[in-house]
Amino acid sequence: MGTTCAYLKGECVEMAIDGRGKVAVVTGASSGIGRQTAIALARAGFDVAVGARRKERLAELTDEIARETGRKAHAWALDVTSAESIDAFVQGVVGHFGRVHVLVNNAGKALGRDPVETGDEADWQEMLDTNVMGLMRMTKRLIPHLVASGDGHIVNLGSIAGHESYAGGSVYCATKFAVRAITEALRHELLGKPVRVTSIDPGMVETEFSLVRFHGDSSQASKVYQGVRPLTADDIADCIVFAVTRPAHVNIDQMIVTSIDQAGARVFHRQGATS
Ligand code: NAP
Repeated sequence: MGTTCAYLKGECVEMAIDGRGKVAVVTGASSGIGRQTAIALARAGFDVAVGARRKERLAELTDEIARETGRKAHAWALDVTSAESIDAFVQGVVGHFGRVHVLVNNAGKALGRDPVETGDEADWQEMLDTNVMGLMRMTKRLIPHLVASGDGHIVNLGSIAGHESYAGGSVYCATKFAVRAITEALRHELLGKPVRVTSIDPGMVETEFSLVRFHGDSSQASKVYQGVRPLTADDIADCIVFAVTRPAHVNIDQMIVTSIDQAGARVFHRQGATS
């Protein structure tokens, strides 16, 4: 990664496209997409601030990042369902790094696959608190710092489930439809300010996502990926790094990214399947 040409009035202006000198915050970095994104951002030159509830996993991650990339990496415990935890996290990040250029709102989950009729209301509440309120609060607290950076970027993890609902996914889909609505509203609200807003909307990615969804039932979780080549967390991290390393005037609005074996929220080509 180095520089790129931005054509301004027909003239090539060299523009930095790596993260050197910039700080990126990644929520939900203890596993899956968030973890791999923190690593990929550090490889692209960003210093990284990471948060999640499982702090011991974050300590391993920041050690790995510092060892492998030489970038600064720092972790704070973060529960995005708690306003107090978000406040302490943001204070820690800003106190430590002094500025923030990129916010990756990645912390999120699906819980359960039951229809509305029999769905678990505690699961519904936790999805709403994490995927919607958590993202809103993190964004609200960090907007002033992103604006002050002069080159800010908000990357929200949406989903193909934010474009298409499916049976048993009502509340998870609702939260990801909400993320899409929030992302669009932010693009309007921040127009004219130096903050880009991007939504990365993956299809099926093999992470701990399904294990969490099925409350730790690994046999149910592994069935989700049977016979398909799902995306990996690295595939999505790659898309995020692409978005945040475009020149400052280029806003990647939304990326819907699926495996070659997926053609819709619940439509898969499964090897060995009879229909
Ligand atoms: P994952 O492996 O389960 O990772 C989820 C991350 O979110 C973990 O680091 C978890 O950390 C964190 N998290 C959960 N609740 C949290 C809370 N209350 N406060 C702070 N962090 C919290 O799943 P993933 O696939 O990487 O998911 C990442 C994002 O991608 C989610 O927003 C998900 O909706 C989205 N997505 C995933 C897929 C997929 O198929 N995997 C598809 C589309 C979109 P702790 O448990 O340590 O807190």
